[in-house]
Amino acid sequence: MISVENLQFKYPRSDFALQVPSLKISPGDRVAIVGPSGSGKTTLLNLISGIATPDQGTITVGEINLPKLSEKQRRDFRISQIGFVFQKFELLDYLNVKDNILLPFLINDSLMLSSEVIERAESLTTQMGIKNKLNRRSDQLSQGEQQRVAICRALITQPNLILADEPTGNLDPNNKKLILDLLFHQATENKQTLIVVTHDMTLIDRFDTVVNFEEFLAEAQRSNGKESRTEDSTS
Ligand code: ADP
Ligand code: MG
Repeated sequence: MISVENLQFKYPRSDFALQVPSLKISPGDRVAIVGPSGSGKTTLLNLISGIATPDQGTITVGEINLPKLSEKQRRDFRISQIGFVFQKFELLDYLNVKDNILLPFLINDSLMLSSEVIERAESLTTQMGIKNKLNRRSDQLSQGEQQRVAICRALITQPNLILADEPTGNLDPNNKKLILDLLFHQATENKQTLIVVTHDMTLIDRFDTVVNFEEFLAEAQRSNGKESRTEDSTS
């Protein structure tokens, strides 16, 4: 269970404020997060993964209350429990596809690289249609290919929780469906909870729950008594 209560968060030197009164996600749920650009969707994923910490409120994932952990504990938690598909992929340009996917195992002592992991990496790339790119540097891939590498890297550790920030944003309709099928299939197979930020309303029916950030913006406006800022809502 993921539980967010009375969450308040502000960036230093920015007038954006995120307020989430209450959000509960059951284990194994497939949740879509929708809302205008700049409404705080990425910020919420950063908070749930412990990359950012709230000014107030609780964020519990399983038994763990994240804001109470030290930075190192949060990092260990993230590595072992969460697969994060970043909106901007965050691949390392100078590594090939294989090493980008295996990166969690290359940089963390707590994860042991084994032949089983390498086989899993190869199997994921086959399912994603990028097996023939394993030895190519990631800066020599199309956006859609980079996106698929980022997804493989998030799945390679078989985390309890998958956070995917607009994972189909750079894909054509066929690949969109393929990649979402794969995410859902993996999540079911490994009993993972799946939280996906998406703008794609054609995919929305496939999720158990839809969280609309318009609600949180309205909440912020009510409690601030003024208009809360959002950027243009095209992306
Ligand atoms: P979304 O993912 O819904 O598009 P974000 O969570 O990325 O929105 O951003 C929410 C707001 O916070 C935006 O106004 C954005 O400009 C601002 N913001 C995001 N990251 C930072 C940061 N590191 N420092 C200051 N402001 C930020
Ligand atoms: Mg975002």
